Amino acid sequence: MATSPASSSSYPALTYSDALTLASRGHALAAVDARLLLQHVTGATIAQIVSYPGRQLGPIDRMRFESLVARRAAGEPIAYLLGEREFYSRPFVVTPAVLIPRPETEGLVDAALARLPVDCMAGLVDLGTGSGCVGITLALERPQSRVLAIDASVDAIGVARRNATALQCANIDFVIGDWLQGIDGHRLAMIVGNPPYISADDAHLGQGDLRFEPRAALTPGDDALSAVREIILQAPAALAAGGWLILEHGHEQGPIVRQLLAGSGFTDVFSDRDLAGHERITGGRLPD
Ligand code: GLN
Repeated sequence: MATSPASSSSYPALTYSDALTLASRGHALAAVDARLLLQHVTGATIAQIVSYPGRQLGPIDRMRFESLVARRAAGEPIAYLLGEREFYSRPFVVTPAVLIPRPETEGLVDAALARLPVDCMAGLVDLGTGSGCVGITLALERPQSRVLAIDASVDAIGVARRNATALQCANIDFVIGDWLQGIDGHRLAMIVGNPPYISADDAHLGQGDLRFEPRAALTPGDDALSAVREIILQAPAALAAGGWLILEHGHEQGPIVRQLLAGSGFTDVFSDRDLAGHERITGGRLPD
């Protein structure tokens, strides 16, 4: 960008290498975060940043970079600062209105896809869709299915719609709603969801990225299982015979979620572990 001598002397340019040093030494940012923010501001690739350490940021890019570095140093999640997070190898727009897609939630997609034939033409529901990452991924991986993605947050549905458009996903609909209320009688083949499952008094809510994420996406209140319980009670009326309900849950909640499913008449109850080895995904199906 061309800059006038006056503006560059009052706000001197910074080289790529100075910028990375400022972020990592000056603000204690992880090197990877510093580089991602620099790429984001300049539009340069990693290769360009490494190959041209002496290239300069203009004054505006410098201000934008310094502001993002300060926000990251104050704890804001890198995904919100970049406005994007990859999920199942696709980029998803994220804003503070939605939970940041996590690797363990890819396990929810894996568990769902393992139970849906490639040519599945059935109706599926994604509860608490947030960014839409689970519902949109299922819709794209099973293009003949029809996905209904539900969220209580108007803003989240806005983000999810944006993602569906950007990813050219046409076989998905979005509704604002309270879990499965009003969805009975749909005879769905599968319901998946990543509901809030952290107790309101859990210290984790005050740490790291979670401090900046929507509270309602993380905790249903004092009883960590209240959303899971409600979904398991509502699901049989919305599912077809043989239909699956598969939920993500907290790392110690596997046994109780299995018990709740069995108590609601689900069979073939299973749990899958996350990359850390914790039970994270539990599901079951209604009898045929
Ligand atoms: N897996 C998230 C976490 O523990 C929580 C997501 C959720 O509550 N559904 O950070």
